[in-house]
Amino acid sequence: MLRLPSFTYLQPKTLAEALAMKADAGPDGAYVAGGTDLYPNMKRRHQEPRTVISLMRVPELSGNGTRDTGHVVGASVTLTTLSASPPVRQSYSAVARAAELVSTPLLRNMGTLGGNLCLDTRCNYYNQSYEWRKAIDFCMKKDGAICWVAPSSPRCWAVSSSDVAPVMVAIGAEYRLVGPGGERVVPAGRFYANDGIDYLTKQPDEILVEVRLPALNGWDAVYHKLRRRGSFDFPVLGVAAWIQWDGDKVADARVVLGGVASWPQEVPEAGAALRGTRLENGAIAACAEAAYRPSKPMDNTDFDLSWRKQMTRVWVRRALEELRGRAPQRATTVARFT
Ligand SMILES: Cc1cc2nc3c(=O)[nH]c(=O)nc-3n(C[C@H](O)[C@H](O)[C@H](O)COP(=O)(O)OP(=O)(O)OC[C@H]3O[C@@H](n4cnc5c(N)ncnc54)[C@H](O)[C@@H]3O)c2cc1C
Ligand code: SF4
Repeated sequence: MLRLPSFTYLQPKTLAEALAMKADAGPDGAYVAGGTDLYPNMKRRHQEPRTVISLMRVPELSGNGTRDTGHVVGASVTLTTLSASPPVRQSYSAVARAAELVSTPLLRNMGTLGGNLCLDTRCNYYNQSYEWRKAIDFCMKKDGAICWVAPSSPRCWAVSSSDVAPVMVAIGAEYRLVGPGGERVVPAGRFYANDGIDYLTKQPDEILVEVRLPALNGWDAVYHKLRRRGSFDFPVLGVAAWIQWDGDKVADARVVLGGVASWPQEVPEAGAALRGTRLENGAIAACAEAAYRPSKPMDNTDFDLSWRKQMTRVWVRRALEELRGRAPQRATTVARFT
């Protein structure tokens, strides 16, 4: 059985207190929310904080409410609460869907939105016990020097495996971060970097406080997930598709892939293939082809990588067909919220 190392556990009651505790702890400190990612990682010695600072009692992180500018969800809201929240289900169904597709009910009861959006990248050579990793002389993501997936590569290719992050990038959500130097708001797309080790642009002391979902103004989005076991597994491919409608035509579109790169990968060519169309079969096929080309899964998660690449076409097509089929429903929703 893998055991947690000993550490000091702190429970700040304000944001300022949390930041001060992290500053005191320095690089040996880590924030934790639900702990469903951090604690397994600590058991495998991926992260080895001496001080763990819980964010679950910080009230600023627990909001969930609609404003004129959209809907705001605090980072400590659990995935269960998020996916069951009536305004989120009704108006941001892609967010609710992605959250309810994460793992199992138990993990969704503990796991939070913030933890999901800051999730560590994953790789078959990394998500192993310390002894397993030591037996292969580790790898450059932790304790070693080489990448076992691409031995001549200077970088780590561990995979972004969050279900909710691709949706946030696709719908153009914004994240409010608070750190020792003040606060800033960043578009979700700029929060991630395509590097398996430095996969977030966030500073280590910064706290993700809330996520701002954009107001409804004629857009719609869906999320589709590919995994082996439908009730449990991380995505080996996620497709988030967003459409801004102008009447029955596509004014703008974004397609974001999860599980195939170290970040949620937007494919601009795929969005461009849909603009000005009515999501006819030809437009959907062109978009799926455009998404397929840069989709480059590596051989470091479940399933054969060439099959996963092939599935990009299929999953993008299915996502867009769902969006096309939802057009009448969208008209009702927009009428209700404008
Ligand atoms: C068996 C298993 C299956 C899983 N399947 C899936 C899956 O299918 N899809 C999926 O997306 N995830 C999956 N997960 C991962 C995880 O359960 C979820 O992503 C969950 O939402 C993580 O949230 P958490 O609050 O538990 O994160 P934590 O473990 O508390 O934190 C994760 C990371 O985020 C940081 N962090 C947390 N909150 C903040 C904040 N507010 N500000 C700054 N940093 C923060 C922590 O320091 C840590 O580095 C799975 C996990 C397990 C163990
Ligand atoms: S991609 Fe390479 S460096 Fe990154 S975790 Fe996997 S084996 Fe290690």
